[in-house]
Amino acid sequence: MDKYQVLKQYFGYDTFREGQETLIDSIIMGKDVFGIMPTGSGKSLCFQIPALMMDGITLVISPLISLMKDQVATLNQVGIHAAFLNSSLTAGQYYKALEYAREGKYPIIYVAPERLETDVFLDFALHSKIAMVAVDEAHCVSQWGQDFRPSYLKIVEFIKKLPERPIVSAFTATATKEVREDIIDILMLREPTVVTTGYDRPNLYLGVQAPKDRYAALKNFVETHPDQCGIVYCLTRKLVEEVSDRLKEDGFSVTRYHAGLSDAERRKNQDDFIYDRCQVMVATNAFGMGIDKSNVRFVIHYNMPKSIEAFYQEIGRCARDQEPGECILFYNGQDVITNQFFIDNNTDNQELDPVTRQIVAERDRERLRKMTFYCFTNECLRDYILRYFGEYGSNYCGNCVNCISQFETVDVTEIAKALIGCVFSCHQRYGVNVIIDTVHGANTAKIRQYRMDSNPYYAVLAKVPTFKLRQVMNYLMLQEFLTVTNDEYAIVKLTANSEKVLDEGESVVMKMAKEQDHPAKVKSEKKPKKGKMAGVELSEADEALFDKLRMLRSEIAREEKVPPY
Ligand code: ADP
Ligand code: MG
Ligand code: ZN
Repeated sequence: MDKYQVLKQYFGYDTFREGQETLIDSIIMGKDVFGIMPTGSGKSLCFQIPALMMDGITLVISPLISLMKDQVATLNQVGIHAAFLNSSLTAGQYYKALEYAREGKYPIIYVAPERLETDVFLDFALHSKIAMVAVDEAHCVSQWGQDFRPSYLKIVEFIKKLPERPIVSAFTATATKEVREDIIDILMLREPTVVTTGYDRPNLYLGVQAPKDRYAALKNFVETHPDQCGIVYCLTRKLVEEVSDRLKEDGFSVTRYHAGLSDAERRKNQDDFIYDRCQVMVATNAFGMGIDKSNVRFVIHYNMPKSIEAFYQEIGRCARDQEPGECILFYNGQDVITNQFFIDNNTDNQELDPVTRQIVAERDRERLRKMTFYCFTNECLRDYILRYFGEYGSNYCGNCVNCISQFETVDVTEIAKALIGCVFSCHQRYGVNVIIDTVHGANTAKIRQYRMDSNPYYAVLAKVPTFKLRQVMNYLMLQEFLTVTNDEYAIVKLTANSEKVLDEGESVVMKMAKEQDHPAKVKSEKKPKKGKMAGVELSEADEALFDKLRMLRSEIAREEKVPPY
């Protein structure tokens, strides 16, 4: 099969996106590649398609268990044999997966970097033909990024041990010069084909609203944005008809698009929108693929979409000219139920075996939950999306509804002093976690072993939650009041600025999410009614779920630990 056939048959797409072909062609010709493309632009296909076309196994290195599970489920769903090897597997599952891998059942294997140096995995790798090592989220090798992972440094050691050097491909959305150079150097890419596309989307304002009357809110929005064109996404064809009819009655210049219309009408409506003959396009998610209109000023989600992936893709059509754009999501509890219904009645999955169908449905439910949580979080919405895709940035973007209304300026000087003082008093010998655990007063084996429980800063901030300590620690590093060493130990060190805070009375002020459970916007709507379908009651149980999700997310963000087998 050639690459177009693979694209069509397995992934169901007709055309490649910008950058994808160049990267795929280079890999097939045996060259190293380095793809720098924004989140959601389709980096995975760039290593998955060549993996299916080459002899041998492609190992994909990925930092997060959740990302691995997700991608493997997606591949399995379309009939591609892929597996993941990480600490979420029991010893039994791990050996079973390796056994299949030895038999050559998987062209694609996702593996956590920590695994690479284990004897069991190494033995497998040395006796298999590894065609390519694809490093996803490659910025994790660089200490310049916020999410440096010492375990990523093991990748090169691993490659060196292989009898034959595989192709090495690296992918990231982080485009700063330092990080790029680090990736090429540290991964020792050999004359890689470097492809940079697109741009990040700080120009998009992100908002969530839970209006009592959605149509009134939409009408008001369009009225207050005359001369601006935009897209309104609805979940169902019926709603597209309803909303576009009402807008038309109310005198707006509007057209519509969904899969139930004739080819001719779809083409005409699309052109009307693209050539500015209509101001507003009301559409299902069928609209937008391959549409390149740069001056779309707003994207309104009349309903909550099924996943962050879908949502990000759809708002990605806004303001491609890099001028400001607005992306507002209208949340309503009923959307969760409708999406749940789509998952439970997914006709695309009909031909899958029951086990795979189950896995896919579970993944989709999980995606829906995370989409739902986007509507409830009081954290920065952009940060939420980027974290979902495995990127870590600032916790404050200043251009989303939460940053504008939910954040407050907090003086964190006392916390900063304790953290810096602790680094100083332990002679700059430990990593972030030890420092945080010390000031928080954790009673762990490590703390006792390092005698940090007798450090003068032990438990001085016992009342401050660790997530907050971590946020301040991150901020201190961003502002270069502290730094970490560029080796696998990631030791926290002082900088020339440290004493300004410690001794010279400089205060540290940062933006932080206000402390409350949920944003007022959702609270004021009161709890949505219980749904009829199992598992989707938006009730107290959901609030607990959201809390759990929040914890899970910070859990995942921490580095994986390798169990002893
Ligand atoms: P990234 O890793 O760059 O953040 P992903 O690889 O997760 O992005 O892809 C984001 C979404 O784009 C996925 O849903 C994927 O199926 C879709 N996608 C990728 N390539 C194409 C393409 N050529 N045409 C249409 N959709 C695509
Ligand atoms: Mg990706
Ligand atoms: Zn923000």
